[in-house]
Amino acid sequence: MILNWLYLDLNSYFASVEQQLQKHLRNKPIAIVPIMTDATCAIAASYEAKAYGVKTGTMIYEAKKLCPELICVEAKHENYVAYHHKILAEIDKYIPIEIIASIDEVACKLIGNQKQEEQASQLAKNIKKGLQKNVGTYIRCSIGIAPNRFLAKTASNLEKPDGLQILYSKDIPERIKHFKLSDLTGIVKAMVYRFNKSGILSIPELYNITPKHMRKIWGNVQGEKFWHMLRGEEITDIKTERKTIGHSHVLEPKWRKIKLAEKVMSRLLLKAASRLRRMNYYSSRLSLSIKTEKGLRLEDKSTFYRACDNKKLLEESRKIWKNLIKNKKIIKIKKISVTLYKLEKKNELQPSLFENFDKKIILNTNRFEKISQTMDTINSRFGRDSVTLGEIPNKIKSFSGTRIAFTRIPAKQEFHE
Ligand SMILES: [Mg+2]
Repeated sequence: MILNWLYLDLNSYFASVEQQLQKHLRNKPIAIVPIMTDATCAIAASYEAKAYGVKTGTMIYEAKKLCPELICVEAKHENYVAYHHKILAEIDKYIPIEIIASIDEVACKLIGNQKQEEQASQLAKNIKKGLQKNVGTYIRCSIGIAPNRFLAKTASNLEKPDGLQILYSKDIPERIKHFKLSDLTGIVKAMVYRFNKSGILSIPELYNITPKHMRKIWGNVQGEKFWHMLRGEEITDIKTERKTIGHSHVLEPKWRKIKLAEKVMSRLLLKAASRLRRMNYYSSRLSLSIKTEKGLRLEDKSTFYRACDNKKLLEESRKIWKNLIKNKKIIKIKKISVTLYKLEKKNELQPSLFENFDKKIILNTNRFEKISQTMDTINSRFGRDSVTLGEIPNKIKSFSGTRIAFTRIPAKQEFHE
């Protein structure tokens, strides 16, 4: 039997980062709070606090009743983001990250030998060791390995903290029968209500209905997909008609120096981002490729939590760019291509699927999305580059002008992107 996915979920993430950073918090019950007041709720709790029943979402005045010695720590989001990147870099040493599901959860696709149980579990152990050694001894995770991403995530919930569980299709529903329906990713409160109303109260009961019945209760085709997911089948998440959005440009000789070429790259990226928003997509992978005057081709990419705002995408592009131009041989860049991958249509997103509470607090890009949309609106009314992020020298503006390509006809709005 084949295993295809490894899902890694960090344990008590924010609390662990604080315990890693502040020695006096180690081995103590702590709660991370957005502001220092008893009238707020914990956005994370250490395992020591969890032992008292304090959880994410517990009100602090309640939490203090449960655990009088509870220490409240104000959230420092920049620390969690910094550790997020350290953790990603460490995991990437062992296996490429396929999906960043939230600030403390990633999914990786197993390849070759890794699909065998023994190798998969060794890989998981190596990742755990690496995180402890190179990121911090307080950084622990639960890893789930399974035939599909859904079951891998489910498996990561089987053992906490510091878990490692392998879940096969044949183990369903037996090994997960103690979970509540709402413990399964994708089953939100309203869905639990619908299942209960149809007489389905437990996981074994959920498992035993037909795909047709599941679809009926669910209210759409997602229900049928869920039926297959529960059985370990690989289901592509959301069908996107479009696979990529990209722009490339051959630079005029006078714009080929690295510094200027970077501005062209940013412009191409902003143009692609604008098209992404107009088409109502999110992207979670960006790739940059360059060709030097001497014919050297270089490409690099980055994976991130889905985004469509200029700020995030520019940040990612600059990271990749820095990496690309590290190559000392690069003096002049002749061609640049920017491509956004892993597109998900906004209105087809399953918000409850592979998302969790803390991600919204940290990686919330709503504000930047709004700013980006405002920029789009202004640009479409007053002309391209009326507002943009960073400087765009006058002469470069024409670089990203819309031309009629043979492969597609640009939409009208594109002339202002
Ligand atoms: Mg977690």
